[in-house]
Amino acid sequence: MTAEYIISTDAPRNIIISGEGALKPFVDYLDGKIIESFNGPICEVPFTQENATKLRTFLKGKDYEIPARERAVLKHLADNPEALEDKKIRWNVKLTDLSANKLPKKFAKIVTEWDLVHYFPLRYLDKSNPQKVSELVIGQWAVIAGTVISSDFNPAHNFTKIVIADVTGQRISATFFRQKWLSWKFKPGEEVLLYGNYSEYVNKKNQNRFPQISNPSLDKITSVSPAGQPLTQGYGMLPIYPQKSEDRSWQLKVAQEDLLSSIVWIEDPVPEAILKKYDLPNRTEAYKNIHFPQDRVDVERARRRIAFDEFVRLQIYIQNKKTEHDVRTASRKADNQWSDDFIASLPFSFTNAQARVTEEIREDLKSNTPMNRLLQGDVGSGKTELASAAVLTTVKSGYQAAMLAPTDILANQLHERLDNTFKKAGLDVNVALFTGKVLGKKRKQLLEDLEKGDIDVLVGTHTLTQDYVKFNNLGLAVIDEQHKYGSEQRTALKKENPDGSVPDMLAMSATPIPRTTSQVLYGDMDVSIVDELPAERLPIQTFWDETPDVAWAKIREEVEAGHKAYVVAALVEDSDKDIMANVESATSTAEELQARFPNFKVGLLHGKMHKNDKEVIANDFIKGDTQILVATSLIEVGLNNPNATVMTILNANRFGIASLHQIRGRVGRGSLQSYCYLVGEATMPEAEERLNALVASNDGFWLAEKDLEIRGEGSLFGTFQSGNSDLYLANLKEHKDLLEVAKRVAGQAVKNPLMKHEVKTLYKDKVILG
Ligand code: ADP
Ligand code: MG
Repeated sequence: MTAEYIISTDAPRNIIISGEGALKPFVDYLDGKIIESFNGPICEVPFTQENATKLRTFLKGKDYEIPARERAVLKHLADNPEALEDKKIRWNVKLTDLSANKLPKKFAKIVTEWDLVHYFPLRYLDKSNPQKVSELVIGQWAVIAGTVISSDFNPAHNFTKIVIADVTGQRISATFFRQKWLSWKFKPGEEVLLYGNYSEYVNKKNQNRFPQISNPSLDKITSVSPAGQPLTQGYGMLPIYPQKSEDRSWQLKVAQEDLLSSIVWIEDPVPEAILKKYDLPNRTEAYKNIHFPQDRVDVERARRRIAFDEFVRLQIYIQNKKTEHDVRTASRKADNQWSDDFIASLPFSFTNAQARVTEEIREDLKSNTPMNRLLQGDVGSGKTELASAAVLTTVKSGYQAAMLAPTDILANQLHERLDNTFKKAGLDVNVALFTGKVLGKKRKQLLEDLEKGDIDVLVGTHTLTQDYVKFNNLGLAVIDEQHKYGSEQRTALKKENPDGSVPDMLAMSATPIPRTTSQVLYGDMDVSIVDELPAERLPIQTFWDETPDVAWAKIREEVEAGHKAYVVAALVEDSDKDIMANVESATSTAEELQARFPNFKVGLLHGKMHKNDKEVIANDFIKGDTQILVATSLIEVGLNNPNATVMTILNANRFGIASLHQIRGRVGRGSLQSYCYLVGEATMPEAEERLNALVASNDGFWLAEKDLEIRGEGSLFGTFQSGNSDLYLANLKEHKDLLEVAKRVAGQAVKNPLMKHEVKTLYKDKVILG
């Protein structure tokens, strides 16, 4: 009789034996007890070294076939009594004593045990959910369940060929180089599960094609699950790791199996009560199941748990980072006189949102903790006016202010705008411009004046963050379009003053971020939202069409009426790459439009141009004769021409929601009705959803939620260069509830030494933990 048992552990408590054979012997021999489980009876054996040794001897009998992983667990337990003690995933332990030293070079980044278990599968092949031969796609991984039809070794060509018929009777062959023994192991009539990279064999003579998988994995189907799914030994899901040639991941698998099977119990920093309450598995289960799951449920549970840890660590980081900001200098006297004068001098009155945020900022400016505020508002919501008001309070109170813009063009514009509006308000404020182009004597003079305190406001590009730019007494640093920067640059601008005081920080972003996301990315900042556009503003009318004809007609109409138009293309120049064949370039579009509209002046602006040329072109569009500006998405931020009323975006399907919304925001900046034409074919359903979303709404926050919904991804993090997250499995859409829990438990969790250690290691010097 051959009985098969699955041996597992819920260490450090029990060894669990399940299987179809009689469980009674185990009960007697090991003092176990039989309990009814979801999958039938199992035998639970107290987890002691004695039992492990006994069990191993007991199972040495030839009657038992034990899966390799379980055998390894038992052997390890019996051979290493100390293994019964908690074993942690050790952070700095190199993998030399594991088979990881056999890992191919491409895994060079995997150095420690932590690295190895955190190298997560990208996806899984579900062995319990086989496909049909007719559904397979060449070059993709496939799982087929079927019956062996024939099984032969071909001595002439030295290969083994096993032909299998799927449930529909369609045939596929599994071919192996050599391995004659396989032709004996698998016999006609047997049920098997076959998985590997699908290809076709082409007969050279008659060009007939046959479905095949070469060097697949082949398992006998040993039983069927209650739901009728085929079960084999080993794991129900096959992990596929992120790498180019998937067929080599077995070395990784071996290394991970070695490690995870030798680890009996992974120390868990989260108390059991919390795990129970939120139905989360412990770490031992989570790490084993993320790599070797039986089914989807295992994967999802494991992902939830690991995501939870990621959120908890992030929350600890955020909460402790915040206390760092809270330590600061003496309180300030904030004088709002000039700020009031400025607001009164504007030709419009503030929207309710602007008025509210002004108050929020003024509260911060007079408080004795430094401001650390993120100002979020849709394009055109009037953030610059708010920043100007804050700058004036700072200057009037005796401090200097700095304003950082992402490009030279924008720094220029901002400088000019502040200078003009302050003059109009009758205020004597010295606003200077500092970019990489300020050179020689002028540069030297400017830096001197700044250090002496003769310059009140310095506007510039990232050159402002350089160490040699020294302020006399910096009171406020403003960052415009803050999402264009990493957190490093934010920090660099927060220059400490000679007297040790830290300036206030105001970051502005026109990329609306869903609330959940901003909590994660900017949890260390206070957030103000300007959720209202000036009343005079008419919503931009947006259309989506496959051809640009209507857009061209509208451009003619608007330009003839004295307004201006933007046309945005995805590429600078035509590309000779096939996949780019249908993508318009700015350069050729500009030529085409100049030919189409010989009486209009068409300008061309793109990133490959020299800085000086860019400036000339941008200026000519804003103040001069250029009527149509053809550009790349570089105009996404900042160009301000209230007289521009048409935006055409070519190959709009290639842009993401956030970019499209930003680009569109270049029009509709005055009281004129504006139009946006999205041109392009939606090649994928997602592109169609994106374009429809833009047609449907002008509301940046709504679009941001929509974007998250469509992408559902952590890819947001790349976009915002948060530079401070170790979120790999956490998904804001799927694990929203966990984020809330993590926030609540972070205060408690930080007291756990292991958790503390992990946060310190992952966030390094960005966090202060006692
Ligand atoms: P953004 O938030 O995109 O930086 P800006 O501050 O550049 O927006 O404002 C866009 C335009 O709207 C500017 O010309 C600005 O002077 C104008 N503006 C700002 N606030 C108001 C308001 N309350 N009413 C009318 N126009 C306003
Ligand atoms: Mg702005």
